[in-house]
Amino acid sequence: MAKRIVIMGAPGAGKGSQVSIIKEKYDIDAIVTGDLLRRHVSDKTDIGRAAAAYMNEGKLVPDDIIIDMIREEMKGKDSFILDGFPRTVVQAEALDRMLEEMQLPLTVAILLSVDDEIIVKRLTSRFVCSGCGKIFSSLREPVKEGDKCSDCGASIIRRKDDNEETIKERLRVYREQTFPVVEYYRRKGILKEVDGTGTPQEVFERIDSLLGE
Ligand code: AMP
Repeated sequence: MAKRIVIMGAPGAGKGSQVSIIKEKYDIDAIVTGDLLRRHVSDKTDIGRAAAAYMNEGKLVPDDIIIDMIREEMKGKDSFILDGFPRTVVQAEALDRMLEEMQLPLTVAILLSVDDEIIVKRLTSRFVCSGCGKIFSSLREPVKEGDKCSDCGASIIRRKDDNEETIKERLRVYREQTFPVVEYYRRKGILKEVDGTGTPQEVFERIDSLLGE
């Protein structure tokens, strides 16, 4: 069955890890705004040039840039999981309008809940593959910058914005601008809250049981 999912949660709540599992398990496309933007930055496109400074400071990229980018990505897709979008109420309203035009309502908005102390710990020990985006954690396995990804062989790096100062700003922005989106979906009756603590597999089992309902 077609599924249209939004996954939400603070930076480091584990959205990326869950998206990798969900897209395999349900065979749906993942649209990950952070990854799309990072690709634009490394390809030095107009979007990348406009977005880089905001991203390095942990601030949100302006809504119009993001909304246009998502509109392009969603073309022709009737099943997908959105990670990192919407992050403001303006973006959530724009998404509703796009989906109305396509006559495809959202199936569910999942909120991964994790305490702040765990978030900071996870982000300061997070490594990512520069090729496929796979996430590694030095809390789970010995990993350092320059190691090769076990899936695709590209180099493992640290994200530029995973430093303590930028993490604090990203959490502040999340509370101020993204938490209202959680309330937006709660009011619409499509929000499902999931405990984001534990291993990625444990968290996925919680998600799987509610998506199978
Ligand atoms: P993420 O990988 O989801 O943590 O995103 C990294 C950065 O990309 C964020 O800190 C923002 O600067 C930017 N970004 C990603 N998604 C959005 C969005 N929906 N709206 C605005 N900025 C975004």
